[in-house]
Amino acid sequence: MKKGKREFYSTVPRIPRAIITKKKTPKIVAEVDEANCTGCQVCVPFCPVDCIEPVPADTYSDVAIPPVHVRHDECIGCSACVRACSQLTWDAIRMVDKEVFEQKHGVTIE
Ligand code: SF4
Ligand code: SF4
Repeated sequence: MKKGKREFYSTVPRIPRAIITKKKTPKIVAEVDEANCTGCQVCVPFCPVDCIEPVPADTYSDVAIPPVHVRHDECIGCSACVRACSQLTWDAIRMVDKEVFEQKHGVTIE
């Protein structure tokens, strides 16, 4: 059955009123599928720690609007960006197990 407007928007996260800082190590972190991201930046204001930003300008030479990435060491694993992207725009962010992310990217998240 098709969702009504009120029901649909009730599951969209709220935009935080203030930026917070990370206090503990998350179990999951957000990872942007950069090849699938439109660079619309709709997800950016939903992040409570403000750790989503466009990739550096020289990362891609062939795209007019660069995708975003997550500064993974600041992510608190809240999933707000995933819900914002999938419900309001596209479907370009996934939550990934912290250890899987660390192995894949050769980093340590504390
Ligand atoms: S909302 Fe989705 S498509 Fe838009 S910039 Fe964020 S991750 Fe990319
Ligand atoms: S999971 Fe939360 S803290 Fe991490 S990038 Fe997304 S909105 Fe920001």
